[in-house]
Amino acid sequence: MQELKNKKAAVVVFSGGQDSTTCLFWALARYKSVIALSFDYGQKHIKELDCARAICSKYKVEHYIMDMSLLNQLAPNSLTRQDIPVDEEAPEQGTPNSFVDGRNHLFLSYAAVFAKQRGITDIITGVSQSDFSGYPDCRDVFVKSLNTTLNLAMDYPFDLITPLMWLDKKETWALADKLGVMDIIRNETLTCYNGIMGDGCGSCPSCKLRRKGLTAYLESVNRLPDSVT
Ligand code: ZN
Repeated sequence: MQELKNKKAAVVVFSGGQDSTTCLFWALARYKSVIALSFDYGQKHIKELDCARAICSKYKVEHYIMDMSLLNQLAPNSLTRQDIPVDEEAPEQGTPNSFVDGRNHLFLSYAAVFAKQRGITDIITGVSQSDFSGYPDCRDVFVKSLNTTLNLAMDYPFDLITPLMWLDKKETWALADKLGVMDIIRNETLTCYNGIMGDGCGSCPSCKLRRKGLTAYLESVNRLPDSVT
């Protein structure tokens, strides 16, 4: 088994949003070979996949899009159905209506099968416990638990790597800046639940979180927060 291990390569679970794009460039700075893996689960904003495609094409990253339409049938929610609007505020109890049951669990499991077929052990995901927005599958304990399960399931030494786990959005912007990709992340990614590129609609929970972090980071390095439009 060991001879199959290729520590020079990694698979990045890639949505084309701020976090996974930051992880993609983090990986490109560390690994000789990086494969970006996106999932088509019938997301409301198919532009997300266009965005992921455009980034990979522009920065010459090998890119696969895997069909996960089953997830759409299983877990209808505000990110997959046009007729369910995204809640502007998180609920007091339970998960927000933008949470897709099983999404990270399934994505990481499929990414693991995909990686093993190529002799790759390192799988990178942009989940964060610091800004987890109430999503249980972004927590460290879940990722560690799944890592153990995947290793047992396939008798293979997977390494689920989470560079953003303990970073809040401000620190994620700082990391992007350190990697020299701040403008790329700011202009070429899509995080907005309403499907608006870059700085987004400004009013959905995802935009609010992204903007709050960006303003805090720009202020901390004495750049004008006014540049946040
Ligand atoms: Zn938005």
